[in-house]
Amino acid sequence: MRFDTLTVHFAQDPDPTTGSLTTPLVATSTFVQEEPGVHRGFDYARSNHPTRRTLETVLAALEETEHCAVFASGLAAEQAILQAFLRPGDRVLTGRDVYGGTFRLLEKVWRPLGVVAESVDYADPAARASALKTPARIVWIESPTNPRLDVVDLAAVAAEARAAGALVVVDNTFASPVNQRPFRLGADLVVHSATKYLAGHSDLIQGAVMAKDAETFAPIKFLQNATGATPSAFDCWLTLRGLKTLGLRVARHNSNAQAVAECLVRRPEVFRVRYPGLASDPGHAIAKTQMRGFGGVVSVELVATPEETRAFVSERRYFKLAESLGGVKSLVAYPAAMTHASIPAEERRARGLSDTLVRLSCGVEDPEDLIEDLQEGLSQLTSSKPSAGRLETATADTRAAASDTKTTSSGR
Ligand SMILES: *Cc1c(COP(=O)(O)O)cnc(C)c1O
Repeated sequence: MRFDTLTVHFAQDPDPTTGSLTTPLVATSTFVQEEPGVHRGFDYARSNHPTRRTLETVLAALEETEHCAVFASGLAAEQAILQAFLRPGDRVLTGRDVYGGTFRLLEKVWRPLGVVAESVDYADPAARASALKTPARIVWIESPTNPRLDVVDLAAVAAEARAAGALVVVDNTFASPVNQRPFRLGADLVVHSATKYLAGHSDLIQGAVMAKDAETFAPIKFLQNATGATPSAFDCWLTLRGLKTLGLRVARHNSNAQAVAECLVRRPEVFRVRYPGLASDPGHAIAKTQMRGFGGVVSVELVATPEETRAFVSERRYFKLAESLGGVKSLVAYPAAMTHASIPAEERRARGLSDTLVRLSCGVEDPEDLIEDLQEGLSQLTSSKPSAGRLETATADTRAAASDTKTTSSGR
């Protein structure tokens, strides 16, 4: 069964008792037993649940494995991985541009428990080698990253991490299994915020952990029941419904983001565009080898003041100002004041998160409408206009950024 058939049919035969074409939404907390211990595989809904199990079976197949557990959020899924494999004294490596919630979980929850997280520039082979000289229990990788959209060479980092005895975890939220399959590239565990592309409609919070084999999966499955951060049957049902159009949606997210990125690079009001699908992007060469599509998120640095940037993100017609991504409706976020506001301004700048950086999550609308919406906003930016005397610098910098991968990947 191929991917787009899997999402519709796999583990989703009509219900044998009623003939229901769709997977029943089973609303129950418990299951009647014939005799003590004699039941049909379900005893209590936290431990195992039929709607949830169908979702886990489908999600496992999409990442080309047999082992998946879903959780009440992406962060609950991450927590299960950390709890399963970390003990006091252990060390975790992350990329420089890790999801804010992951950073907070490691710093505020795990550091006090004696686990040290260290951020490494995965793009730099020397930095990787030096970080892996000291034993690390987990090497945690996101690619593309949030919000800079750096692309990490998954096969290279995974191979080195494994050779050093670390467990390789890939957060595949931004790419989705349509665009990237981390197990093929050496991952031991894959984690998703199903809130984003998998469910796809911005109507629920959910997470998933996939493991490459039964042994790696066992402690995850145990913790799903033992700590109980399980999603509701309704949310599992909604994700199953959303998954049926995953291939269609992500294809459109990809093409809309490509169209938006290609429009933005030509605009004088834009200082820099990051999108792995642009031939000029520093991540493009690696992305081409490990991704089938480049995702729906585009990040843009405007030639604007922070105030103008705030107005730009607040006044869009279709790009609604909200955190999150991966839904059918386009969203715009302003990391400096939203997702990454908790990071001190100094450190934000050091990490390449400028105060004019805007993150676009391109939905599935007509690309012309999305482009018009952005062009209208750009034409209202006055800092970039010749009268403000900054046009020449801006276009020259943008061109330099596009032609010099060293400049672009270092960020500013
Ligand atoms: C949103 C997100 C998470 C966290 O998922 P929640 O469902 O919000 O708990 C983790 N990683 C990435 C890359 C995300 O975008």
